[in-house]
Amino acid sequence: MIHRVDDQLRDEARRFRLVFACGDCAQFDPEGDRCSLGFPHAPHSDADLDRRDEVVFCKAFELR
Ligand code: SF4
Repeated sequence: MIHRVDDQLRDEARRFRLVFACGDCAQFDPEGDRCSLGFPHAPHSDADLDRRDEVVFCKAFELR
């Protein structure tokens, strides 16, 4: 799901410690640098919201 990133989202992400990237997902295999479900993880690997205007959330994200 593509979501627009604005200052409100950046502020709320910091305040509520929003995690959404592969590094915080139970399905991510850091040793193999891959998603265990076989999804392409490049669109979901960057957790930095400061230098972008949209983010692609993964519907299969599962908190580690
Ligand atoms: S399920 Fe989605 S968020 Fe989790 S590792 Fe795979 S691609 Fe990344």
